[in-house]
Amino acid sequence: MTPHPPAAPVVDDAPALHLPALRVECPACGAQPNVLCTSHSGTRQRRHDVHRARTTAHAQAQQ
Ligand SMILES: [Zn+2]
Repeated sequence: MTPHPPAAPVVDDAPALHLPALRVECPACGAQPNVLCTSHSGTRQRRHDVHRARTTAHAQAQQ
């Protein structure tokens, strides 16, 4: 029983899934690691890119 089904199920063919930044949590939209960023309050997935803040967070995590 899942009272809160995930708003952003992972799909296998989204180009953004291959971005290194996907390994970290997104500070902009709150997407968990390995989950696509979302826009419009989580109703739409960003399949082709991630938030700039997420890319920055990933870069900082490498240091
Ligand atoms: Zn995001």
